[in-house]
Amino acid sequence: MTEIVEIEVELLAFGNGEIRIVEVPFDEFNDTNDWDKLELIFRYGQNDFQSRQQPSVSVGDVIRLNGKRFQVVSSGFERKEERCDANARIGTGTGMCDQILNAHGQCPRASNHL
Ligand SMILES: [Zn+2]
Repeated sequence: MTEIVEIEVELLAFGNGEIRIVEVPFDEFNDTNDWDKLELIFRYGQNDFQSRQQPSVSVGDVIRLNGKRFQVVSSGFERKEERCDANARIGTGTGMCDQILNAHGQCPRASNHL
């Protein structure tokens, strides 16, 4: 039996943000870089290819891959960086923290939050 990798896709375009699980055969997925993996996930996320009672993966959806998030754009995929919107001490004043969150959605500068 072929091993399957399950990838979560946030269906933001037509699925109201619900999660679609895209199954990719491990032997196709192995030894490829993130961008090739994204292409595979996109292909396997089409209902023509892997039929589900959900919308196909489309432009605007976000693929979760190895703790990173990639948005499907018309020209391919774009890494999505989440930024912290907490109030924090910045230098001698205060303002929006704006640090890039880590893979777990945590702020590396949380100790500066107010
Ligand atoms: Zn922060």
